[in-house]
Amino acid sequence: MRNNTKRKLPIFDILLTSLTLILILASAYLLYLYKSNSIAAHDDPDDLNAVSSTIDEADSSFSGIKIITEISNDVKIPFAIQYPKSNHTAFNDKIKKHIKGIKHDHLTNVATYKQKHKNFTNELNISFETFEHPNGTYSFVFVSNKHIGDLQGEMEIHTFHLNNENGDMLTLENILDYDLENLQTLSTLTKKQLESNDSSQNRFTKEEIKKYTEPLWENYQHFAFTDEALVLYFPHDQTDDNIPIVSLPYEDVNDLFIDSYQVQLKDDTDHEESSTDSNGKQNDSSDSNQADETEVEENTEQEISSAKKVALTFDDGPDPNVTTRVLQTLEKYDAKATFFMLGSRVEYYPEIAKMVQEAGHELGNHSWTHPDLTKASSDKVHNEIHRTSQIIEDITGEKPYSFRPPYGAFNDGVKQQTDLPIALWDVDTLDWKHRSPQQLLSHVQNGVRDGSIILMHDIHPATADGLDAVMAYLQENGYTFVTVSEIEESQ
Ligand code: ZN
Repeated sequence: MRNNTKRKLPIFDILLTSLTLILILASAYLLYLYKSNSIAAHDDPDDLNAVSSTIDEADSSFSGIKIITEISNDVKIPFAIQYPKSNHTAFNDKIKKHIKGIKHDHLTNVATYKQKHKNFTNELNISFETFEHPNGTYSFVFVSNKHIGDLQGEMEIHTFHLNNENGDMLTLENILDYDLENLQTLSTLTKKQLESNDSSQNRFTKEEIKKYTEPLWENYQHFAFTDEALVLYFPHDQTDDNIPIVSLPYEDVNDLFIDSYQVQLKDDTDHEESSTDSNGKQNDSSDSNQADETEVEENTEQEISSAKKVALTFDDGPDPNVTTRVLQTLEKYDAKATFFMLGSRVEYYPEIAKMVQEAGHELGNHSWTHPDLTKASSDKVHNEIHRTSQIIEDITGEKPYSFRPPYGAFNDGVKQQTDLPIALWDVDTLDWKHRSPQQLLSHVQNGVRDGSIILMHDIHPATADGLDAVMAYLQENGYTFVTVSEIEESQ
């Protein structure tokens, strides 16, 4: 909202001014609608491989940063891309250029592959994480995962940096003051850590370590400043999902930085990690919750036992718009559902994840970045699952009850990496594909039976639009809404 000038005007002038203002705003809004529609319809008209996609914008928990999500509308060329948007045009343009490049390459490669192959799967996934230096500057770490048919999948890391106050995008050269002695020290520390990493953390040979840690600026282009350390990312062999990472605590590197990047070091070193045991068993709090529910249920046992059960599940969230709307509809029906959350989204929308838990719904783990885990190394699978369990517990105080692998894809290797029960579904509403409240309802009507687990996604507005009708239908047909764990207990 803008404040108009507070001059005193005769009433007629005020009316006229307001009317003009309304007209201007209305035309600006129409123009905006027109523009955003054209974005949605034709993502990039310059691109010969343009794929229709939907673009959403949402607030993030990092001040001044919005998250743009672009999801393909073309089932044959699925992609999901997330990137940050700041108030600084130069930064935003840089990010957009980066995304456009990756997307263009991928679409070109798909088109080439298509000439020789008929039915094949392909996927592009770009997500990012945000870290904040104690001085308030942001580091954005982009991870892109690509795969086409039977070609080797590719994973890449790129980092971007922004001082959101003044728009500066500093490089490591800037931060080390272009000082070659500083660079030499950084190189020595990095080399030492890579050499001491065990083979699960990096599979660099001695020669590779030497090559990649040489004191050349080009070797230190991908980095992030977290609240505790300078993290460096190294190029990675495509046959291996592990990106070699070195994390240098500020205690060791503080002196190398320009003043504005020096942090105040604590004297005491009580970095007690309460999270050493990330191998989650079902926790007590969820058990006691269930005990409470059982008590309540006993009163109406007669009704419940004869009722048909259905579990509504929502994947890929939390989302500030859609999840909150889903919660409202669930509350209207006094229903409990299960939310399979992505760790990366929980990190961005902690307050939404907390809302879900506080409303009494069941929490599930859906990995950190939504990769196909059957194509990932066991380390990567482990990290994807355990990091997500950890953040869900940190934010909500509750451990996830079960794990739903992205795309429902898992194998023994994936199962070995978690104690959580694997939770799939039997009714797929395909809401991500049709984005239609009517089709959402008809998929449920055609597929539901007693004990069904229904798959939906709390990131598509159409799903929130159609949920009320779905729940009304299920209720009229004698279904009670239960969580995934309650379905599993009753089977
Ligand atoms: Zn999913």
